[in-house]
Amino acid sequence: MAKINEDIERVFFTEEEIKEKVAELGAEISRDFEGKNPIFIGVLKGCWVFMADLMRNVSIPCSVDFMAVKSYAGTTSTGAVQIQKDLNESIEGRHIIMVEDILDTGRTLNYLEQYLSARKPASITIATLMDKPSRRQAPVAARYSCFAVPDAFVVGYGLDYNEFYRNLPYIGVLKPEIYMD
Ligand code: 5GP
Repeated sequence: MAKINEDIERVFFTEEEIKEKVAELGAEISRDFEGKNPIFIGVLKGCWVFMADLMRNVSIPCSVDFMAVKSYAGTTSTGAVQIQKDLNESIEGRHIIMVEDILDTGRTLNYLEQYLSARKPASITIATLMDKPSRRQAPVAARYSCFAVPDAFVVGYGLDYNEFYRNLPYIGVLKPEIYMD
């Protein structure tokens, strides 16, 4: 029976490393947003594993909503951001924390920041699991980031390659032959 971890060439971040960083981030956000009742907005689908773990490390009152966007096909950016699911609740006057799996070119969050600003939130803050600063094309800065990563296409812990590997409990890169298939 094929196992997904057999397709991994190198592990970037182990389950233990991720758990520790996510716990630290949850504690930091809880301190910084004390008394502000923020709304966490997850950008699907990549955020879901990270967000589920992050939220259980946040100890202040907060709410949660999701957006779904599409900006990638395979490992290359299409350049366009398409909203597939919008928010369910109003964000007017609310402190927003956008939760992303990985900040790459920054186009997605740059677009979403502008899109959501029009709804007059009190503030917009970005929390990303990973950041690839060398790839940035749009002016976006994450206030919170767990890991900086080099220019490599990573999978696992919610991140996919053509919709697979999201269920890998750690983050790594695939063997080159997998990307070539
Ligand atoms: P950006 O708009 O910042 O270029 O792209 C952000 C989105 O691209 C992420 O939310 C993620 O879905 C996807 N992405 C960027 N880099 C990677 C990567 O290394 N691995 C995976 N699986 N997705 C990525």
